[in-house]
Amino acid sequence: MSNKKVNLLGYSLKSLEDFFNSIEEPKFRAKQLIKWIHQKGVLDFDEMSDLNKNLREKLKSIALIKPPQIEEVHKSSEGTIKYLIKLESGSMVEMVRIPEKKRITLCISSQAGCALQCTFCATGAQGFERNLSADEIIGQLWLANFSDKKNSPITNVVFMGMGEPLLNFIPVIESAKLMKEQLAYGLSRKRITVSTSGITPQIDQLCDEVDVSLAISLHAPTDQLRDEIVPINKKYPISELINSCKKYLLNYDGKRSITIEYVLIDGVNDSEELAIKLAKLLSNISCKINLIPFNPFDGSNYRRSKQNNIEEFKKILMNKGFITTLRVTRGDQIDGACGQLVGKLKKSIKGKKLIPHKSI
Ligand code: SAH
Ligand code: SF4
Repeated sequence: MSNKKVNLLGYSLKSLEDFFNSIEEPKFRAKQLIKWIHQKGVLDFDEMSDLNKNLREKLKSIALIKPPQIEEVHKSSEGTIKYLIKLESGSMVEMVRIPEKKRITLCISSQAGCALQCTFCATGAQGFERNLSADEIIGQLWLANFSDKKNSPITNVVFMGMGEPLLNFIPVIESAKLMKEQLAYGLSRKRITVSTSGITPQIDQLCDEVDVSLAISLHAPTDQLRDEIVPINKKYPISELINSCKKYLLNYDGKRSITIEYVLIDGVNDSEELAIKLAKLLSNISCKINLIPFNPFDGSNYRRSKQNNIEEFKKILMNKGFITTLRVTRGDQIDGACGQLVGKLKKSIKGKKLIPHKSI
């Protein structure tokens, strides 16, 4: 039956070559197929004109190419689009398309929910459902590029949606390889960022598998505070995390830097003293710092830092020589930070009261 067919959407070039080998077909078929799927957006074997009829029939009997489904589309006035994606199992994840001047960034999910329970995160508040497969991860990029012919192609991908990518290592690697593949999306490593809360064994393994940019969700410069707001810190404390960052950087030329993400929460991690500690902690790491004003959501008692505290925090880091950016909070009206839309949907289903969203 169709659900026993293998879904080829998530196969990297190497995996497709192995697949064709296993069905006694020449290797070059993998290159043809990968271009049809990821450059032309074609899912139907019958439309693949350079595959002969016998091969198309053979493929149809054992394989399919199937992306997940777009369930809802929410547009904000500044052009950000948030998609609610339904997986075959019924789980929901989110992806966000963020157009900027020269680039279009796609924020994708790697897990449905997340087990790590960072105290400021709407995804963490939902708990963990399951890992996404490679086809469900690359399927998000496929949908962003091909589900609507009017869409311009995505130029940058960030694994900053729902879930902890390094706890779903193999599918994340496989999909990142496809993003980089010249015959597929051809994105350079600078255009693919894996964001992690600090799973150090996998940070150490990452560069053996695929060369992508790394973002670390630090959020606190001391173990005492980080244990509280990013609980995985109890398992992988800051000293280990900093060591893994150094190892990552040593693998590459001196030009590489890491992005440090720091969510600013009023009265929790936004004092001048902590800014100074942060600068000291990062003094030997080639990095740039991205400050993210906390995005409030239902059920959280945290508040976004006050504007003058944000400015002061930033100034301290800049004065210490760090390139420091402040993330513009976009898409507030569509529950900007990932996990918030699914969180709302779940709550509304529980309470049997659907909160209407502006859908198109
Ligand atoms: N699990 C990974 C990637 C997904 S979270 C990680 O933690 O890095 C992506 C980013 O969004 C992280 O830096 C996370 O800290 C941030 N984030 C989560 N909830 C947020 C909120 N309510 N407001 C602002 N940023 C948030
Ligand atoms: Fe998981 Fe990242 Fe949210 Fe923490 S911030 S709960 S690691 S998704």
